[in-house]
Amino acid sequence: MRGKETLVTCDSCGRKVPRNKAVVYEKGVGYNTELKTANDVRFFQRMKMTYCISCAKHRGIFERLKRRSIERSKREY
Ligand SMILES: [Zn+2]
Repeated sequence: MRGKETLVTCDSCGRKVPRNKAVVYEKGVGYNTELKTANDVRFFQRMKMTYCISCAKHRGIFERLKRRSIERSKREY
C-alpha cells in the first residue's frame, strides 16, 4: 500500500474514487440570451465533470474523448 491517495467524487453516482482512476470530462455549456437587442451576449462555460470508471463506461465518455482527440488532430492550425 502506498500513501494516501487523493479521492475525488464521481459526479454521477457520488462514489469516492482515487484520482488516478477517475475520468475527467470537460464539457462546454453555452448560454445564449434570447433578447432581441443589438448585443448578442453569449456565455460559454466550461464544466469539469469527474466520473468513476464504471460511470464513464456507461455514459460512453471514453468514446467521446477518443472522438474528440481525433477531431482535434484533424483541425490543427
Ligand atoms: Zn460513478
